[in-house]
Amino acid sequence: MKRKCIQRVVMAVVAVAAVLAGVIFTPSGNDVSAVYEPDNTIVKIGLYYGADEMVAANLLNEIGSGYTFGYFDSNREFHPVGETDETAITMLKDWNMYLVGNKYYDEAPNSEYEVVGCYHVRLNIEFAAYEDAAIAAQEYSDAFPAYHNGAWYVCVGSYTSAADAEVALVERGIDGIAMTASSSCITVVATGTTRILFQFDYGTSASLAVMPRPDESGEKPQTWFRNYKYYGAFQYTRLTGGDITIVNVVDMEDYIKGVIPYEMNTLWPLEALKAQAICARTYAALRYDTHESYGFDLCRTVCCQTYLGTNAAGEGSDRAVEETAGEYITYDGELCSVFYFSSDGGATENCENVFTQPLPYLRGVYDPYEEYVDTGRKNWSFTYTAEEITNILQSKGYNCSRIVSITPTYTAMGNIYSLKFTDSNGKNWTFSKYNASSILYSSAYGKYTYSMRFTVKGEGQPDNTILYANSNRDVLEDIGAVYAVGGDGTVQKLADPDTISVLTGSGVEEISIIGSGATITADRYVISGSGWGHNVGMSQFGAKAMAEQGMNYKEILEFYFTGVTIG
Ligand SMILES: [Zn+2]
Repeated sequence: MKRKCIQRVVMAVVAVAAVLAGVIFTPSGNDVSAVYEPDNTIVKIGLYYGADEMVAANLLNEIGSGYTFGYFDSNREFHPVGETDETAITMLKDWNMYLVGNKYYDEAPNSEYEVVGCYHVRLNIEFAAYEDAAIAAQEYSDAFPAYHNGAWYVCVGSYTSAADAEVALVERGIDGIAMTASSSCITVVATGTTRILFQFDYGTSASLAVMPRPDESGEKPQTWFRNYKYYGAFQYTRLTGGDITIVNVVDMEDYIKGVIPYEMNTLWPLEALKAQAICARTYAALRYDTHESYGFDLCRTVCCQTYLGTNAAGEGSDRAVEETAGEYITYDGELCSVFYFSSDGGATENCENVFTQPLPYLRGVYDPYEEYVDTGRKNWSFTYTAEEITNILQSKGYNCSRIVSITPTYTAMGNIYSLKFTDSNGKNWTFSKYNASSILYSSAYGKYTYSMRFTVKGEGQPDNTILYANSNRDVLEDIGAVYAVGGDGTVQKLADPDTISVLTGSGVEEISIIGSGATITADRYVISGSGWGHNVGMSQFGAKAMAEQGMNYKEILEFYFTGVTIG
């Protein structure tokens, strides 16, 4: 895409009569001491919930030596109630569960299986502490400590029906009751066995939480769950009395360590990774209540931001998180809505020109840094025939006849703002902001408008060069209203030109101009662009380039987010 940065030269010879578009925000007096302080640095990340609830969930120590059982209170403080030395354990919904190999099912499978029954004989003794119950359980080969509604008990055996438990009660001569726990109960077994280690049933008052214990290395424990390693604890809730919602309860900083690798290459420069870490942390803090109804803060998918534990974490990304611990992006003391994307292709954009409302810190900036790195989407270009564009509009539900012309408009930053399509009956369809880009994105034709930074022109027709009029790089929209200022201060209106010649560092260059809003009538339209993403906020490749140029994370964030405070 040709965009000539001639503003310095133009400024010297041309004065612009028009007031140029664009709301100007001046950074207000930010109180740098007003740094955001989160209420709690423990975050709850939903791993499996809703349609993905599980009947059984296993854990395996990677770094650690067994687990402490307990629960988190409403202040997210962990209260231990019991423990195990087993390094591989499985949490089951309290149900008749069928074991084949290492897997547990809540319906009898066709193959051979063993059963963990959900009926037991409970001794008629309430124990003062977990340890007392654990010692008492050793009297039986098949007994286990149980935490039922705030008290410790010993349960014996596991049976698949109340009747079987009643029979056992009598036959074994136990002073107890045949029972089954509530539909909130979770049973813990040694993985791959029917041996029950512990049972937790606190009704709806609290959910079982399992905290890995450190081993002798003293390193922070990490635990395998379904092929991913995690820091922190796990919480198991049968929200509606059925299957189990599984939540990772983890320190904010450890959570961010599991996010960065999915947002930025962990081998990128440290300062870029630090900028990304602060973006991810700020983004998370602003979305804390996203999944409140499920009892956690954020989910592990792209819905919130991708988090898959520590598997992909790198030395650089971990260090970036640690060196920016507790830092957020704020504007006037409030957390910022942080946006970022892959590459801007030359300029970011005011958020209201892509999404909806203006935000003072999401202002378009010209990006002189990206050109120093390979963004992988530096220049992209493709051609649509008028028929293809007609087909695209029709396939997206617009009842048009053959499209005969397109009228693009551009923002002051030179990014696309709107596209008006006119058909052979003279009817118009206009798409603006993000839709101006997405309307031309076609999987059917394999042609993609990757960013907001592109131009549309008729094939073989002159380039839509944008003329910058002053050092603010506002777009000179009306070429008829340009004046030359002579060395003695005389002002002379220029004739409406088809071409303008400007003096650049490399000599005189001629630029032809079709202003924003000019209608293009053609059989073939060339779409030429650069960058990848929505162009609002931080360019990740730009951050990489800035870091490689020796700038630090604050300089990076303050470049892409206007008037913000980092701290
Ligand atoms: Zn989510």
